[in-house]
Amino acid sequence: MTDTGVSTAANASLDGLHPLEDRYRLILEGINQAFCVVEMIFDDQGIPIDYLFLETNIIFEHHSGLADAVGKTARQLVPGLEPIWFERYGKVATTGESILFVDSSAAMSGRIFDINAFRIGGDDSRTVGVLFADITERMSSDQMWLNYVAMVSHDLGTPMTIAKGQAQLMLRRGTFSADRVTTIIDQIGRMERLLANLRTAVRAKNGWVSLHVLQEDLDQVVADSVQRGRLQSPDREWALTSDGPVPGYWDRERLEQILDNLIGNAIKYSPPASPIIVRLSANGTMARFSVTDAGAGIAPETLPHLFQRFYRVNPGGATPGMGLGLYITQTLVTAKGGRVWAESEVGVGSTFIVELPIRHEPEVASANSPV
Ligand code: ADP
Repeated sequence: MTDTGVSTAANASLDGLHPLEDRYRLILEGINQAFCVVEMIFDDQGIPIDYLFLETNIIFEHHSGLADAVGKTARQLVPGLEPIWFERYGKVATTGESILFVDSSAAMSGRIFDINAFRIGGDDSRTVGVLFADITERMSSDQMWLNYVAMVSHDLGTPMTIAKGQAQLMLRRGTFSADRVTTIIDQIGRMERLLANLRTAVRAKNGWVSLHVLQEDLDQVVADSVQRGRLQSPDREWALTSDGPVPGYWDRERLEQILDNLIGNAIKYSPPASPIIVRLSANGTMARFSVTDAGAGIAPETLPHLFQRFYRVNPGGATPGMGLGLYITQTLVTAKGGRVWAESEVGVGSTFIVELPIRHEPEVASANSPV
């Protein structure tokens, strides 16, 4: 009896009743994550332009919102799908390097996805497996808030440890070191940016109104931000070009945050000795300032995504960050009736430009104003 049972089970497996593939399928249907297998489609120049769905699991439709995907291409299902998705999976297919990232797609109703993509097969394979979950709700709920606070607390730890260590070393040795003081200032600058962003997020969450609009000269606010940047990164050439004073009613705290985020990024994403140029101009009704770096630059297809929440071009890279700085910058700029955008050339550098209306009268506080 026992013998028969054992041999039946063994035979079932050997006979192919439960082949390996079926067992994997059972696992993929059992997990609460969407899964699909796609075949990348490249143009004549080898640029990834689309992908064909070969296989999906049952929960795929729930997470993606796409019905009957198998046999159709991404462009057929989502005509306006952002090219970045083709690029990412194309890169996985050609390099064999798997990626893990969080991003949203405007073309897919702004859903936020947590994604793990990997190549299936060897060097010649252009097939990619994508394991993902729609985390939109999680991100927009209290969980997102907790994640964010956890990330900020974690990110504050590093600069604090570095600054404290440098100060303790000077104390122990009883010597003054300009390099160590510069490092301390640099790390405090990082903490200030993190805290300023956290403060904005707290206010946005609680719907607090914060309008400290006073008569200020934008020219001076910009010059002060450049000075802070110079202290953080003294080994590079800093240039500030300005048409002169731009008086108006400005929210200094917000302006500093916008400028510090952009200047902080220019420092972070360009070599330590490369120049940073800040320009300011105004025409009576509008003021425009820009921050130009000589960093690696950003591919044109990537530019529209930079301002999305949690978006990072190189999420696994060595540069620390949360992909929130530009999102918060854009929130602040648009709240002030302005716009921000980026221009960039790969291998040359990037320019982030902000345009803001000049207020000649004090602003009237709105109860719903988020910032
Ligand atoms: P973080 O720097 O924390 O990642 P941001 O929202 O400030 O978040 O920026 C989002 C992404 O945009 C960065 O991860 C980086 O990939 C890219 N980026 C921002 N500024 C620059 C810049 N000056 N040069 C190149 N890439 C940049």
